[in-house]
Amino acid sequence: MVIHTYGHSRTYEMEALLKLFRPAEKFAFSAEPQPPAEEEYFSAVLLPEGDAQRLICRIRLSGQERSGEKMLPADIPNNLLDREISGLLYPQLCEVTGLHPAWGMLTGIRPVNLLRKFAARTGSLAQAMDDFRNIWHVSEEKTQLAADILAVQQPILNAAPKNGVGIYLSVPFCPTRCKYCSFVSNSVAQMGRLIPEYYKCIAVEQRLVSDIVGEFGLTVDSIYIGGGTPTSIDLYQPLDWLHSNFVTGRPIREFTVEAGRPDTITRENLSYLRQFGVTRISVNPQSFQDHVLKAAGRPHTAQDAVDKFLLAREMGFDNINMDFIAGLPADTVHGFRESIDRAVELDPESITVHCLALKKAADFYQSLAMPDAEAVSEMVDYAYKTLTAAGYRPYYLYRQKNMAANLENVGYAKPGFESPYNVMMMDDSQTILGIGAGASTKVLGGKRGIERLTECKYPYDYLARFDELMQEKERQLRALLG
Ligand code: SF4
Repeated sequence: MVIHTYGHSRTYEMEALLKLFRPAEKFAFSAEPQPPAEEEYFSAVLLPEGDAQRLICRIRLSGQERSGEKMLPADIPNNLLDREISGLLYPQLCEVTGLHPAWGMLTGIRPVNLLRKFAARTGSLAQAMDDFRNIWHVSEEKTQLAADILAVQQPILNAAPKNGVGIYLSVPFCPTRCKYCSFVSNSVAQMGRLIPEYYKCIAVEQRLVSDIVGEFGLTVDSIYIGGGTPTSIDLYQPLDWLHSNFVTGRPIREFTVEAGRPDTITRENLSYLRQFGVTRISVNPQSFQDHVLKAAGRPHTAQDAVDKFLLAREMGFDNINMDFIAGLPADTVHGFRESIDRAVELDPESITVHCLALKKAADFYQSLAMPDAEAVSEMVDYAYKTLTAAGYRPYYLYRQKNMAANLENVGYAKPGFESPYNVMMMDDSQTILGIGAGASTKVLGGKRGIERLTECKYPYDYLARFDELMQEKERQLRALLG
């Protein structure tokens, strides 16, 4: 299929819209005056006409053709042009394909954030919800889900300290790589030789962050150690630094460590987490079906996840999250339901339900088709009904590209066990100071409302360019915070 544009440059945005309907397809592109005569196409042409412009949108798909047009001001800004193009093409795509994506023509990753902005702009949540349904074609269910999450998030956002920041430490190592993984995660077996040097560098970087926090009068609100799987390396030293710099004597709201893979959890590393004041951990089964775990390349069983969860409980962890993925290969709706039911029986404080996202970095990418959209929708619906009936509330949500059924990842928590870090980070409402390879730093303020600092994704580059990276980071932080 060809994406055809003429008279404007909104190709990327058109591709994102088309991917809602054809997620795994690779597209060709054309910028000729006319759409290609012989092929399927998705076209938006903008032609000057007097002191205005005419937008003509057409599709040819599965032997059917549709078209529509609209007059627009000559100086229309790009964001409004995107909305007009989507407004014409989206209904055509729905008609021709018979599909009606649950999030309508929203392609962004933060629909809850968007609903909050609409509500602030119009001064009315009811109006913002109407816009979601009527302009953006978001289903009633998803509109309500976004509104429910907004309500749960508000007190968490209100309780954020003035000048609050989150600290994120990245540990981009895992014992082995899961087949669906698209994170920067390096197997300890292959890249373990980098770890001693990595400790030295993150020690220097956390000192820099600590100095900046002190100098600019920032209040550390939360600390999050993610990855990778942080518990795949010895965390004693990094925990000690973080604890003495950011926890001792300070009223932080959360200190999370993703223990993630059950095969990395030991009594010893859990005891370090307790010793250094970690308040929340993640133990991630992803599925309670052994054959699904095997197909996903996870070298642990469902029982291992249960055992490590119970070990953490025995050692006093009273805020544990569990992650699951809907749409893993070899899983079924029945199998997924069993996984969720078993999770509810274990009664963790929060459960996060992801939909499989197929990204280029994953081993699966070449070999796997997108999971069946209907089955994934059923899984997600089951999770919502079961978890809300069991007393969990959805409290944060985000979407990714190439996500099964174009749905969403949702964090559910028992009241009072929501992760402030997840809420603040996803809402872009707090500065996040990252430490380590792959840790993004974003600072509130600047022209765009939030500025993202240059980051170095891969440990090897991070170590090789460390001095230069730290100089640049310090320069950028001082400029943005000063
Ligand atoms: S545990 Fe997570 S980060 Fe590590 S390889 Fe698996 S999916 Fe990737």
